[in-house]
Amino acid sequence: MSKKNNFDYIIVGAGSAGCVLANRLSANPDCKVLLLEAGSKDWHPFIHMPAGIAKLVNLKSLNWNYYTEPEPHLNNRQLYWPRGKVLGGSSSINAMCYCRGHKKDYDLWEQEGNKGWGFNDVLPYFIKSENNHRIANEYHGNAGLLQVNDLKYHNQLTETFLSACQQQGYGLTRDFNGEHQRGFGLYQVTQSNGSRNSTAQAYLKPVQNRNNLTVWTKATCQKIIINNGKAQGVEVNHKGDFVKVSANNEVLLSGGALNSPQLLMLSGIGNACDLESHGIKTTQELKGVGENLQDHLDVCVVQRCSKNITYDRLNELKAALQFYLFKSGPGTSNAAEAGGFLKTDLNKEEWPDLQFHFVPAILDDHGRNRLKGNGYTLHMCYLRPQSRGSLKLASKDPQQPIKIFANYLSESQDLAYMKKGFEIQRNIFASSAFDAFREPEIFPGDDVQSEAGIEQFIRNKAETIYHPVGTCKMGSDEMAVVDNELKVHGIEGLRVIDASIMPNLVSGNTNAPTIMIAEKISDVILGAK
Ligand SMILES: Cc1cc2nc3c(=O)[nH]c(=O)nc-3n(C[C@H](O)[C@H](O)[C@H](O)COP(=O)(O)OP(=O)(O)OC[C@H]3O[C@@H](n4cnc5c(N)ncnc54)[C@H](O)[C@@H]3O)c2cc1C
Repeated sequence: MSKKNNFDYIIVGAGSAGCVLANRLSANPDCKVLLLEAGSKDWHPFIHMPAGIAKLVNLKSLNWNYYTEPEPHLNNRQLYWPRGKVLGGSSSINAMCYCRGHKKDYDLWEQEGNKGWGFNDVLPYFIKSENNHRIANEYHGNAGLLQVNDLKYHNQLTETFLSACQQQGYGLTRDFNGEHQRGFGLYQVTQSNGSRNSTAQAYLKPVQNRNNLTVWTKATCQKIIINNGKAQGVEVNHKGDFVKVSANNEVLLSGGALNSPQLLMLSGIGNACDLESHGIKTTQELKGVGENLQDHLDVCVVQRCSKNITYDRLNELKAALQFYLFKSGPGTSNAAEAGGFLKTDLNKEEWPDLQFHFVPAILDDHGRNRLKGNGYTLHMCYLRPQSRGSLKLASKDPQQPIKIFANYLSESQDLAYMKKGFEIQRNIFASSAFDAFREPEIFPGDDVQSEAGIEQFIRNKAETIYHPVGTCKMGSDEMAVVDNELKVHGIEGLRVIDASIMPNLVSGNTNAPTIMIAEKISDVILGAK
């Protein structure tokens, strides 16, 4: 291998975690860092204008466009799973809601044997990453690289939604990430002056000229090169050329919850029987690779609106012009403007179990089914599902997408929470605050009232809210893939650092937690901790 293709650290995937690592590791001038990204640069204007999210989720060029296998408990539907394929990864196409989850999520990680991952251990890394432009207290950071802001603009119906929540007896909050998570309010968003602040913008852009940092886009890692139990480098398809790159120190996988386990499997790390059935020689048997898949299943109640005030009939050209000229107006909206967390009576602990996102527009099938007229949508997901899925290789060809068996609702408890949440969605929309706007319900429709009908609706319409995690879980049991420093068990010089290492899904959105994970492990790698 030429010297040109030799680095100290190779980071695979420039997503939420990968961009953080690239920034932090290359801060040491003695570290020569290569960042590989399968997608392109983040030039597309829809990335930077927050309202572009409506289009981004379906933009094939910036997206891996995954589908699950037929889901047995969702009437055999194959669910669409968008994942970012561009600098910034999914942080370049996500809804920008800034949420960390609940303290107990991390304390549970620690109780399960992951020393150093309790809430008090991870809080300093949330704080380190954050530059919160409104809140300054012991829970928030004001000097980090990730810009966290209030929305510059929100729809008038979002105020109506918050009044409706109050009428239902729910308290309002201005901070989901402080002392308490509970309550309803406007989301804070990862935005800087009204533009999306992906990790590519927050962490990569400021350091892209460092001499010791090399970034290759359109560079898909196909395999990790492992000799004598040590990761030596990677094989990459870089713009059609097949190259080998060597790592003096470590290979760091940050390909996300679907691609990192796939790469491990392609490199001979996984369940030996499965690997051998595809003709892949086992380098290290780790049965947990691709197992323990967890995600937030979400269902939307959609109501028709009598007034033309929603984003459905928005003048897109005018909104885009206002955004690009003044960084203001509806172009700065992330669509999911408000929401909240509450605890049902199904859970005995003081630990919210449902999350809501309110969108002042009709939302169906990830925005792919555009309906006529005006409407408003309330998302709801159960935060700590018991159902577990898995990923399986389709073939040893790296071009073939991994097979996703999400296995949603395989545990009956999950459906019980979804039904409870559905009742709350409808009650909120039935509040008098909405009287001036309410027209017939679009989904599920006013005729769906029986328990059986509601259950069928959930099975027919529930979708992912985009939080797959857990497929390379941290731990020390036989299903664990990485240890508490995120080193792959049994292989030297190889770590997985992304959403896949979460042993349990956090009670909230997953971007900030993934950034925290990368911040924390950067310190471990640099020897600061
Ligand atoms: C539509 C959508 C909306 C969401 N909304 C929110 C939200 O509002 N708030 C929130 O907190 N979270 C949200 N999330 C979730 C959050 O964005 C993700 O959990 C988080 O970005 C995951 O980070 P990651 O680093 O694990 O993976 P990613 O950010 O997906 O990064 C993985 C990167 O690796 C690259 N890659 C993969 N394989 C290879 C390979 N073989 N070679 C080279 N590169 C490779 C990918 O192209 C990608 O860029 C949303 C996600 C989506 C998709």
